[in-house]
Amino acid sequence: MDSKKLIEELSNAYGAPGFEEEVLDVVAKYSEELKIESDTMNNMYLTSNIEEEKPTIMIDSHLDEVAFMVQSIEKNGLIKFVTLGGWIATNVPAHTVMIRNSDNEYIKGIVASKPPHFMTKAEREKQIDINELRIDVGASSREEVIETYKIPLGAPIVPDVRFEMKPKNIMMGKAFDNRLGCAAVIETLVNSSKKDLGINIVGTLSVQEEVGLRGAEVSAKKAKPDLAIVFEASPADEQFKDENSAQAALGKGVQIRHRDSSCIYHPGFIKFAKEIADTNNIKYQEAVRLSGGTNAGKIHLSNNGVPTLALSIPSRYIHTHYNYASLDDYKEAIKLVEKLLEKLNWDEIKKMNNKFYRR
Ligand SMILES: [Zn+2]
Repeated sequence: MDSKKLIEELSNAYGAPGFEEEVLDVVAKYSEELKIESDTMNNMYLTSNIEEEKPTIMIDSHLDEVAFMVQSIEKNGLIKFVTLGGWIATNVPAHTVMIRNSDNEYIKGIVASKPPHFMTKAEREKQIDINELRIDVGASSREEVIETYKIPLGAPIVPDVRFEMKPKNIMMGKAFDNRLGCAAVIETLVNSSKKDLGINIVGTLSVQEEVGLRGAEVSAKKAKPDLAIVFEASPADEQFKDENSAQAALGKGVQIRHRDSSCIYHPGFIKFAKEIADTNNIKYQEAVRLSGGTNAGKIHLSNNGVPTLALSIPSRYIHTHYNYASLDDYKEAIKLVEKLLEKLNWDEIKKMNNKFYRR
């Protein structure tokens, strides 16, 4: 599979929380040889040969990206919006965005704020309030926004960024959190469908993570896993920390998480993964995250408790318009999961849950 092409198409697809349809189209296009199912939330499930007696591993990624929604349209044609997911106000103004209209066309707009020429000294020094920002699509009246641009209330709004490659396998684009994870789920499922493994795999592409891990609450119930791996894009901190405290750097391999605010990841599963990485010379970095969370928050508490591992691809500047990540780190993540899946079976799961092994 052409990983770069897959990531490019996923990154360019628009998928605000609750409006993930276009990302699902890309997933379906690359998963033709798999069985595809979905539910009423739009979570997608990818499987191949399921055999009753084998344990089931859920391999998850969320589909959505941090985005916005149209809240109201003002008399002068400016659009007021709310956030869907975690944005910092200073990262939002003076960027372009795409608003989906009622014909399913995307309308470009600028996130506008009062030009500096018209600001008082006090206004210039004041912190930006996200509720005071507006989107300008080039219209001059409310009627024009509604009739010419056909923008309704509740329309999803996403960052307007196109994917590109930089030297040394560095990728630039939007929504690497978590389209890198989506690409990893697809690639893992397609590759492993050609092998005879000791484990059943359910690939879940879960909706609405950025608004509180909502899709995964349902997808974990349907997948009923015995074990889970969550693919994520972790915020890279190498630009802001020294060498010893940085936990996510581009080019240093796949990141294995020990904890974040949603989960203390299963020590036995982490140990097992690190042993496999060491044996196969797979590059990895480890993280003890203070904040943040992943779909593991819901998955590890489902189905009587599920040993869960989070594998992340470090990505700079997530939750803003523009991200960087390394294709090499992505490939290390794929390699690690492939080797893990080749080894897993009921005995290995028993081993990682053994109280002597896991400590
Ligand atoms: Zn994410």
